[in-house]
Order: sequence, then structure tokens, then C-alpha cells
Amino acid sequence: MWSRIKSWLRRKCIKVDGKTAKLRISTKIACLYGAILFVMLCLMSFVTGLGIYFGFYNQAEREMDLSIRNVLQQLDAGKAFTREFWLNEPILPGVVLRVTDVSGQVFINTDNHYPTVEDVDAHVVKHKPLWASEQMEVSKLHNMVIYHEKIDTVYRGEMLQLHFYRTITADEQFLRRLQFFVLSGTVLSFILALFAGYFVSNRILRPIRTLTQTARKIEVERMDRRIPVPESHDELSELADTFNHMLDRLQAGFKQQQRFVSDASHELRTPVTVILGYSDLLSRWGRTDKSVLDEGIDSIRSEAEDMQQLIEKLLFLARADQKRQVLHKENLELSELVADVMKKMQLVEKDHTVELRENEQGEIYGDQVTIRQMMRIFLQNSSKYTPKGGHIWASSHRSTDGKFMLLELADDGIGIAKENQKKIFERFYRVDSSRTKAEGGVSGTGLGLSIAQWIAEQHDIKISIDSDLGKGTKFTLKIPLVG
Ligand code: ADP
Repeated sequence: MWSRIKSWLRRKCIKVDGKTAKLRISTKIACLYGAILFVMLCLMSFVTGLGIYFGFYNQAEREMDLSIRNVLQQLDAGKAFTREFWLNEPILPGVVLRVTDVSGQVFINTDNHYPTVEDVDAHVVKHKPLWASEQMEVSKLHNMVIYHEKIDTVYRGEMLQLHFYRTITADEQFLRRLQFFVLSGTVLSFILALFAGYFVSNRILRPIRTLTQTARKIEVERMDRRIPVPESHDELSELADTFNHMLDRLQAGFKQQQRFVSDASHELRTPVTVILGYSDLLSRWGRTDKSVLDEGIDSIRSEAEDMQQLIEKLLFLARADQKRQVLHKENLELSELVADVMKKMQLVEKDHTVELRENEQGEIYGDQVTIRQMMRIFLQNSSKYTPKGGHIWASSHRSTDGKFMLLELADDGIGIAKENQKKIFERFYRVDSSRTKAEGGVSGTGLGLSIAQWIAEQHDIKISIDSDLGKGTKFTLKIPLVG
């Protein structure tokens, strides 16, 4: 039995034998509500009890005061303790008067059921209630509580003592019974509040448990699971909704990652296969046939260079994704950068006319290395996708509001169809990926524009594209000016 209780307590997270599990929220809420209710009920009972207690004493004291005043008035008026004296009922019901002489002899007693004067005096309590007036005393004896006051007076030349008594036993008993009921009620309410709190919070928190269970079942391989959203339209449904959205994003990111890995492997497989093929060729005929040797070496070199470029790009994007790509931003004169990049392009470019048309001055803030890299990506694409003899040009000028530099990098090459223009910034996307270098297609990885876009985002540069199939392509970079 005890072991069962212990395991239940542990499940409810209560320390048993030094071992504790986590305290469940429903248990915490139930305890908290129970404790709050208990404190409130105790406070209310205390205040109510105190008020009633005070009321009883106050009532008794007022009755005693009135009786004392009446008796003293009658005595002052010279009335003797005759029938006429009692006719006016100077003593209120419940108040008892005893008159004693100097020897302590009682010669008037309005109620014989009360204990003797000596008895009452012998049982005076040390600590009377705070609100009891100074003259009043409280005695407790024979299960009775008596409130009493003693007054010395001179009656017809004789010293007399007037003893006024008023029992508050019934009141005390009532109070004690009230205390018992209130206390029992408080304890009962506390227990009920504990159960009700536990039951209610358990019900309210049930969706959270479902949420936790579903979350536990979600794994990398099974990311399609979603948490059921409660129809309550409260914080819990909001939490489930947010969680599901987070899963959507994670799943999308994960799929993107998987696609990236498979695309990268696919891209690397082609050059590796070509290199292996040529190595075979070289090992068979390379030693004897000089032309095979030359072709083999050239091809292996070219494929290795492509592979190196691809790996560089992959590493760049990986660093960018991990936010490890370091940028050293500074104020740069854009016209100088454009002039320099175009000059180098003119030097290497043999098949196209490369022209720098307008090159207005403008200071921008950015990382020189990556901005050059971005320009080169657009220009190399122009070179790749413009037939021999075509034109490639750059032009840079301020926007009409004077806040931006508009750098145009353009060509009169093959152009990009409207439906493909949005996709060209996606990783590994190539408009004509089926044509390989060997078939006369251009070598491309589909990563250049993704890198260019990342660099642009890091510099708040907006890229727009204007292209028509067969007419050419113009990329416009809207670069913020310093200040
Ligand atoms: P790639 O290495 O294949 O050039 P990019 O990401 O740089 O990869 O470009 C993606 C695709 O966009 C290219 O495959 C090409 O089809 C198209 N593209 C980019 N620039 C041009 C351009 N100037 N003219 C025509 N097509 C272009």
C-alpha cells in the first residue's frame, strides 16, 4: 500500500525518500489555489469571529452600564431596595445584582443560580479581552463566563458594594461552536479546492500534454506530423498554431538543406566521373599516344577547376548560412570599384565588347571584396550567356532622389524568359541545365546568383531584372548611398 502511495506521490512530484520528480503544473495550480483559498477563508473567519466576539462583549457591557446607571440613579434619588425600586426594572434582563455590606454579607441577590461573590472573585481571569473597560472583570468558573463590575456606594450612611453580573457563557459557547464549524468548513473547502483545482487545471492543461506527446513523436524523418489545434481560440490554440508554423518552417528548411546536399553531390559527380574517365583513358593510351595525353591532362585540369569553383561557392554559401561569412564594411567610392572591375573584365574578355558607359561618383558603405565579387558574378554571367561578338556594358548613376546609386550591368545576350526570371536566384537553378559543357553548353553551377543575392541582402541592395529572350538582360542594383 505504502509503495503505491509513494509512487503516486512521486508521480505528483512530491519528495519521497529523497527522490523528487518534476512538479506538474496542475498539481502546482491546485496547491496554489487551495493555499490562497485557505488563507482567505482563515482571514475571513478570523475577522468575522472577532467582530462577533466584540459584538457580544459590547452588548453585555452596554447592558451592564445601563443597569448600573439605573441602579445608581435610583439610589441617588434616595430610593430603598423596596418593591417600588424594582418596579421600574432598573436591571436589564440577564444582568444580576448582588448587594453586600462591609462584612461581605449578601443581602440582596437577584439570581440565586449564580456562583457566590467569593467564587466569582476567586476566578477572575488574568487576561481579559482588550476591549473590556477597566472596571469590568471576567471570571471563568463552572463552565460559566461572567462579566462583572463592582461598585462601592454609600447608602443611608452605610458602605455598600454593588456587584453586577452578566453571564456571557451562551455567547462564548455560540462562538466556540461557530469557530468549530468555520474551521471545519475552511478545512473542507481547502480539500475541495485542492480537488477542484486539480481537476480543472488538469482539464485546461490537457491540450498541453497532447502537444508534448505529439512533439515527442516528431522526428527528423517524420516532420510531417502536426499538433491538433484546440478550437478554444485561447493561448493554447495560439501556442499549438505557433508550434505548427515553426514546424512548417523547420520542415521547409530541412527539405531545402536536403535538396542542397543532393544537388551539390549531383554537381560534383559529373566532374568526378569525367576525371575518372580521363584517368582510365590516360592509363591505357596516355603513355603511348601524345594527343590522348594532352587532351586528358587539359580535360582533367578544366574539370578540376570547375570543381574547385563549385566547392568555393558551396563553402561561401555554407558560411553565409551559418552566419560565419565575415564582412569588413567601410566607406567605398563606387565609381572606383566599377572602373576597376570593368578594366579587369576588358583585359580578360576576348569574345565580347566590354564597355563602361556612365560612371557617376557616389560613396557607398560595404565590404569591398564581396561587392566586387557580386559585380563579377553578373558580368561573368553576361559573358557566359552572350554569344560571341555581343556587347556587355555597365553604367552607374545616382537615383533621382539622390539616395541611391543605380548600377546597371547588362548584355545583349540570350536573355531570360519571364517565367524563369524569379527562379534564377534559387540555389542550383539553371535555365538550361540539360546542356552540358561537352555538348556546347556553358559551364554553370546555378549558385552564382544565389551568392550575389546574399551579398546584396547584406548591403541592403535591391536587385531588379529586365530581360527579354533573344534581346539581352539588364540587372539593376539599387545601392544605398552613404548619408
Ligand atoms: P550559373 O552558374 O548557372 O550561371 P547563376 O546562379 O549565376 O548560375 O545563374 C542562374 C541562371 O540564370 C543561369 O543558369 C542562366 O540560365 C540565367 N542567367 C543568369 N544571368 C544571365 C544572363 N546575363 N543572361 C541570360 N541568362 C542568365
